[in-house]
Amino acid sequence: MKAIQFTQTGGPDVLTLTDLPTPSPKSGEVLVRLAAIGINYIDTYHRTGLYSVPLPYIPGSEGAGVIEQVGEGVTGLSVGQRVAYAMQPGSYAEYVSISADKVVPVPDGMTDQQAAAVMLQGMTAHYLAFSTYPIRPGDTVLIHAGAGGVGLLLTQIARMRGARVITTVSTDEKAQLSRENGADEVILYTQTDFAEEVKKLTGGQGVNVVYDSVGKSTFEGSLDCLKPVGMMVSFGNASGAVPPFAPALLAAKGSLMFTRPSLAHYILTRSALLERAGALFNWVASGQLRLEIQQPYALADAAQAHRDLESRKTTGKLLLIP
Ligand code: NDP
Repeated sequence: MKAIQFTQTGGPDVLTLTDLPTPSPKSGEVLVRLAAIGINYIDTYHRTGLYSVPLPYIPGSEGAGVIEQVGEGVTGLSVGQRVAYAMQPGSYAEYVSISADKVVPVPDGMTDQQAAAVMLQGMTAHYLAFSTYPIRPGDTVLIHAGAGGVGLLLTQIARMRGARVITTVSTDEKAQLSRENGADEVILYTQTDFAEEVKKLTGGQGVNVVYDSVGKSTFEGSLDCLKPVGMMVSFGNASGAVPPFAPALLAAKGSLMFTRPSLAHYILTRSALLERAGALFNWVASGQLRLEIQQPYALADAAQAHRDLESRKTTGKLLLIP
């Protein structure tokens, strides 16, 4: 099968199109012929070595396709069934063999591209808004990188929960897209001091929660945006990892709460996975959740997709088509 692999960590050029043996499903696994592969920012952390992975490595954590073979002991899934998954390695390929309890059936009426687009970023937005900080009606929330994959979905879900949503983005075009997806206020954080702007927009009060996936460059400012006892959710590092800090900083900034969550721990059980994916599929089907899927890249163009993502050129969801 064709797959993208890297044998050493580094820039996008380490992503190499390779011929590899098609995997065979082990006991408890299903072999999926991929129709659409989701690109996520975490794929760049694996490639650069920010998050360490065993080498050689096939990147990619998300996809949708058709079950081609069923391993020993698998029940409830059959050959020909359409499925999707997230947070499983080896996705930049024509085939992936994964644990049967990590896949979810894709409903009729949902395309493979939609399924691959909504799983990882959608379930992330879901757990952030429902579980990490359960948003209440009337809350004001700040979402950084509001026009990105997670950002657009989290904005819509935060609005469904009844929040007033403030986002940050780097360009006017991204600001417009963020507004179209429900942001009440958008701040160009590359041009203005976003913490000052948030204070102005909230009459000096601050926000209940900051969802910060940008990391290093926004961390301190994000703490300054919070109300006393507000929650700082640091869930990504697009600008670099947040450096170590003293817990006393949280007291000085208003007895803040701080968490550094990962989707992996919010879909640990099969029921959590089915509940979060099911909610997203229903919202997409009913038109309550809009997906912004960009022109897909060919599998062979994975390196270009990474370049575009890391240079902040992209909005919404990026896909690879094998
Ligand atoms: P995005 O589509 O949001 O792309 C990243 C965005 O970050 C860019 O478009 C850019 O938006 C912004 N950004 C700010 N500073 C930089 C920088 N220096 N370099 C590059 N981009 C920058 O990606 P995803 O939706 O895939 O992921 C968003 C974030 O969420 C990532 O940090 C990812 O790791 C994290 N994440 C965390 C999960 C978890 O469970 N912890 C799960 C899923 C995602 P702009 O141009 O507007 O600034």
